Amino acid sequence: MRKIIIALTILATVLVVSFNYVDYHHSGVYLDEDGFKDFADKAYKERVLFKDNKGTKTEYKFEYDGQLSTAIRKDAKTTEAVGAFRDETVRDMVKECQVTIAAEESGNIRHACVIDASVHDSGNGADSLAVYTKLYSEEDQKMKLESADVKTYLFSEETGKEIEPIQVMNVNFRHKASEFARDYFTKNFSETQRNKGWESYITESEDNFNHFIMTGDSVIFLFDENTVLKKSKGIVRMTVPYRYMETAIRPYVVNRYIDPEKPMVALTYDDGPGGKAEERILKCLEEHNSVATFFYLGSRMEYFSDNAVHASKIGCEIGNHSWDHPTLSTESKKKITKEIERTNDAISKVTGVSPELIRPPYGDYSNKVNKVIKSEDMTSILWSVDTLDWKTRNAKKIFKSVKNVKKLDGKIILMHSIYDETAKATEKIVPWLEENGYQTVTVTELIMYKTGEMPQAGQVVRAVQ
Ligand code: ZN
Repeated sequence: MRKIIIALTILATVLVVSFNYVDYHHSGVYLDEDGFKDFADKAYKERVLFKDNKGTKTEYKFEYDGQLSTAIRKDAKTTEAVGAFRDETVRDMVKECQVTIAAEESGNIRHACVIDASVHDSGNGADSLAVYTKLYSEEDQKMKLESADVKTYLFSEETGKEIEPIQVMNVNFRHKASEFARDYFTKNFSETQRNKGWESYITESEDNFNHFIMTGDSVIFLFDENTVLKKSKGIVRMTVPYRYMETAIRPYVVNRYIDPEKPMVALTYDDGPGGKAEERILKCLEEHNSVATFFYLGSRMEYFSDNAVHASKIGCEIGNHSWDHPTLSTESKKKITKEIERTNDAISKVTGVSPELIRPPYGDYSNKVNKVIKSEDMTSILWSVDTLDWKTRNAKKIFKSVKNVKKLDGKIILMHSIYDETAKATEKIVPWLEENGYQTVTVTELIMYKTGEMPQAGQVVRAVQ
């Protein structure tokens, strides 16, 4: 995240793509059905909002003077659930257009509603639906664009249910998007093109960056008319490549929602990946729609990659626990660096994500260790609840050590995913947390939700209150 400033500058220079953002107005007024088809086809072509998805079908419905003609373009292929939702949304948009024209004293002039409903595969288990509606009305023997509106929705491919942005992107996505947007709109648009107060639409506030589609290699953020840019610019899009979004894109959709108001706990497990105990832990987490953070040893990644993939697939976070568990403070700077980097590479090779968190073995660190960690842009994660599972190897005692903590909100709980008794304890802890109103979150989520910031390089975190 910190190397981004440089990357941003380079990218912004490369990405000065000048689209024409103005929905320019059609001139000719159509007279019959064929004329309307031509008009609508031109409307689709003149300013292609999204790439033409293959297999799209357009339905035209021509109506005479004073009424609304409609053109509806849809993807032919999508899931039943998303398709049904899309069709309903399209019907709603047609209704909205009808209401708008009914409210006007329009006489016998023509009105056209041109809708583009496209579904995009995010590449990480979500489908984005965008419904883009343009309403034209006849004026001075021309068809004039009256309004443009775009609605976006996200669905889990697995459940078919609608999901929130935070389930497909990480909590830092608004941060990334905001950084990008500031640069993008400053570089590509003049002051006269930007609205007064445009910056309020690109802050990290939860009100911003909620409209987007994910195409598998980039996120296209959409801004309503008259927000960042002046109304004449219409709906504005900003394309941000996944490679810029980096850790902000979740490797897999998380079919759970985090309530910022509810107490949260971060379960953490060291010394994996691998083994039956860990498989049991993963199964338990998955069954309860819960998550944990696993601090993995690089040396084991090659042999137990299945568990690592499984963990990240169900929304768990993977952190670095060194290559082979040395006491880092007694090692040379060069060796510490190698321990960290080799492990990050091994994890990234399997999960596609390079860890930003590290738990030094034995929780042992020194100024020297910390300096290296900082220079690697990483954050040290210690713990606030030690279950001593490695010592007691007793599920009851492990469970008790969690249950007996008065206030668990914001706590980081230390366990090890290599003991059967820890797995057994997890099967008690996870439902118990659920029953007591706690939600499980990853360590990064805990930090982000509690502090509103990303984990900082070189910081040492024990708990977040
Ligand atoms: Zn360890």
